[in-house]
Amino acid sequence: MSKHIQSVKGMNDCLPSETPVWQYLESCLRDVTEMYGYAEIRMPIVEKTELFCRSIGEVTDIVEKEMYTFIDKGEESLTLRPEGTASCVRAGIQNGLIYNQQQRLWYMGPMFRRERPQKGRYRQFYQFGVETFGINGPDIDVEVIALSARLWKMIGLTNVELQINSLGSNVAREAYKVKLVEYFNQHLDDLDEDSKRRLTSNPLRILDSKNPAMKDVINDAPKLLEHLDEESQVHFDSLRKKLNALGIKYVINSKLVRGLDYYNRTVFEWVTTELGSQGTICAGGRYDGLVEQLGGQSTPGFGFAMGLERIILLLKQQNESESGLEDKLSTKIDVYLCTLGDIAENAGMVLAEKLRNEHPKLKLQLHCGGGNFKKQLKRADKSEAEIALIMGEDEVGKNQITVKYLREKKEQISISLDDLSGVLSGLMK
Ligand code: ATP
Ligand code: MG
Repeated sequence: MSKHIQSVKGMNDCLPSETPVWQYLESCLRDVTEMYGYAEIRMPIVEKTELFCRSIGEVTDIVEKEMYTFIDKGEESLTLRPEGTASCVRAGIQNGLIYNQQQRLWYMGPMFRRERPQKGRYRQFYQFGVETFGINGPDIDVEVIALSARLWKMIGLTNVELQINSLGSNVAREAYKVKLVEYFNQHLDDLDEDSKRRLTSNPLRILDSKNPAMKDVINDAPKLLEHLDEESQVHFDSLRKKLNALGIKYVINSKLVRGLDYYNRTVFEWVTTELGSQGTICAGGRYDGLVEQLGGQSTPGFGFAMGLERIILLLKQQNESESGLEDKLSTKIDVYLCTLGDIAENAGMVLAEKLRNEHPKLKLQLHCGGGNFKKQLKRADKSEAEIALIMGEDEVGKNQITVKYLREKKEQISISLDDLSGVLSGLMK
């Protein structure tokens, strides 16, 4: 007996009942990028493995254990992209979009990470991201954050908190790292195994530990924000002033370090408490060294990525008791066209196309697959259409059609095809 083939663990189908909310979110994302003058870029899903090792960093969760990497026909190592920034920078350098220019770009698409699947965490997931190049900030930092804040407003998401921090310059951070390692070395007994390992490989990431047992030792650790270089301090102060001017509320989280290696100065996350431990719905920051690190001319960069599944989960949770979202997502059709007999079937097909020509906004489904009147009406009812149009053979001869109201208590009527437009226009109001 053959077993049905199942999808790969952590990689989900998006079924027709789910796609309306995705389409709604995607269209809001397109709208908000247009409002700020950002242009879309589309990158390949597969890249050379080296791209991610060099950009994200060898000792990060992603590169250490989450990448889908394979050798392509014994030739070279390729990887399914775990994020979009590295590809975007690669594409920008390769196509001459970055050198001596300013760019405001966005992308959307699937990313792949081999993590333990759970609510809000999958192995194929979708990110929307924004990347800007050639602007030192903090004006652009604030613009990009404002764009994300506007998105929450547009889709009606509430209760998300903006957390910001500054990682300072590379030089200041290296000096801070020495102090941090010194401190943790004095508290080795309080560190878990993961953190002990990170003490030599990536000490900043210890601050990001989710282990409750380490909370106190992390809280008492020296603060990155108190070790900023002068310029980064000015940048951070100005960022805060600008956010205040726009009325964008934030909290400073001095433990926010981000999981990827390429950030400097501003980092930020939008966080919710309503999704359990998968609470970060958007994360980003400044990456002034990344373009050069990937072989381009030194160019500042600032961007973020948001996880669309988490946003949709939150959107649904927050709209459970309201019908507002449902109404926006309605994909109900207006008209279900039934035909009885061969002659009417042919005439019905022609009529359906004619009506679509005349009324591009009309949502019309033509009954296909034959069957008697009762069966067709059952389908019409299930389609949730407002009306059924019924065409029988004698009606074809008389240039007439029957209109049956499926949701209103109204007598069915037989009208001339010439009068049909009037009825349909009424439906589309
Ligand atoms: P986390 O700490 O939750 O693992 P991260 O720091 O690895 O997140 P980023 O690389 O910054 O995440 O990705 C940006 C956003 O993409 C995250 O804030 C989250 O919303 C989303 N995201 C990341 N990994 C996943 C995943 N496996 N499944 C679903 N969404 C994800
Ligand atoms: Mg992660």
